Amino acid sequence: MIVANAADYATKHFDETLELLKGYLQIPAISCDERYFPDVEKLANHLVDALKQRGFADAQKVCLERALPLVIASDMSAGPEAKTIVIYGHFDLQPVEGEDWDSDPHEPEVRNGRLYARGSADDMGGWVSHLAAIDAWRATNDAKLPVNVKFVLEGEEEIGSPNLERYMDEYPDAFEADVMILTDCENPSEEIPGLTVSLRGLYEVSVSCKALSGDVHSGLWGNMGPDAGNALTLLIARCLDENGRMKLGRMEPPESWRARAREVPLNDEVIRDGANLLKDAKVLPESGLAPAEWLWRQPALTILSTTLPRPGQEKNALRAEASAKLSIRLAPGQTREEMRAYLNEAFQNPPPGVVVELHEKESGAESWLYEPKGPAFEAVDRAYEAVWGIKPLEVGIGGSIPFVAIFGRRFSDLPLILNGVMDPKTGAHGPNESMSLEVFRKAICANVHLYDELSRI
Ligand SMILES: [Zn+2]
Repeated sequence: MIVANAADYATKHFDETLELLKGYLQIPAISCDERYFPDVEKLANHLVDALKQRGFADAQKVCLERALPLVIASDMSAGPEAKTIVIYGHFDLQPVEGEDWDSDPHEPEVRNGRLYARGSADDMGGWVSHLAAIDAWRATNDAKLPVNVKFVLEGEEEIGSPNLERYMDEYPDAFEADVMILTDCENPSEEIPGLTVSLRGLYEVSVSCKALSGDVHSGLWGNMGPDAGNALTLLIARCLDENGRMKLGRMEPPESWRARAREVPLNDEVIRDGANLLKDAKVLPESGLAPAEWLWRQPALTILSTTLPRPGQEKNALRAEASAKLSIRLAPGQTREEMRAYLNEAFQNPPPGVVVELHEKESGAESWLYEPKGPAFEAVDRAYEAVWGIKPLEVGIGGSIPFVAIFGRRFSDLPLILNGVMDPKTGAHGPNESMSLEVFRKAICANVHLYDELSRI
């Protein structure tokens, strides 16, 4: 009954929550541009106030040298026996420069059931959904929360969380918990909630081919002298199948997940639209795997750049040297060392006379693969079922999110619940970013239920 009252309160006060969110969205807290650093600070200060008002007496803005601030707060009044949850979100924003918006990106506007503003879903709606859930519990349960709650709100996520690990080292208590809720992810649709369980990693490598001490006449020496350009294209082709997909390092996702991959609403129309296909172009064939498996669970390769001759550099010559930079999305659970081994194997026995070298870029991102099981995830299922009517669908992200990989590595033994308020129409990081109000409302109520469910695991 208590939880029903709290959820009821959240629904009745939804408009107030929306106003609270709109206020935050008017602050352009863009973390990649120092002109907006004062706004990042200003928003952090507002958050400290908001958390203090909600009973988090120790709320504070902490700031390491050469870093943007982190806001941390805790309420441990549920007692030492109660579970402690960490709620992570980020309050910084992507820039909007050069984007064509239908309304001012920093003046939130509701149109057709969606809230349009930079950061509406990525990620202000995410953590405001928790502030609203806290409000609901405070208002209906003698100001008591069913679990101990800690907030960790980051101001540098959109620049890749460069200092998050330093903050974790410096403020370990802020990250000490039984369960972590990381709220910066997507739902497969407005009707189907998502639980993110995998990320692809990123590995960048350059392949160079050398064959001659200088370019030579192709009419005189073609067919007998090795050509570095041809060799390079042959080597890249060794990585790809007949559809142009990466064929090295394919993974076999667990059967249990594969069965549900078909439930992900990724039909041809969604793919055509999302991937900008030309009218006559076709979506790549499934070849036995569901689209979700191709997008989230398999490695992929793209060419970042090459030194092959460009228009204006044409000449009839065998090329002495050629190289390409390749970007490889690592399958969840795959490491760069594994991918390096696949490449080395594929490039053995290169075309005769050609010397091949691989150079790795240090940068990149770790992949992440998680198996959500145990009482915390049963609690998640129950909380979502109570509000959405269905359990969340396990989804993946084809790209990389540094903070997730960091949490995944450092807190691998804790339940990590990755959810959020984005949906396929959100358009995060682009013009007209928006959040579905219906998803927002359900997220708030699911949080209300989740705190309750987690208090009993
Ligand atoms: Zn985000």
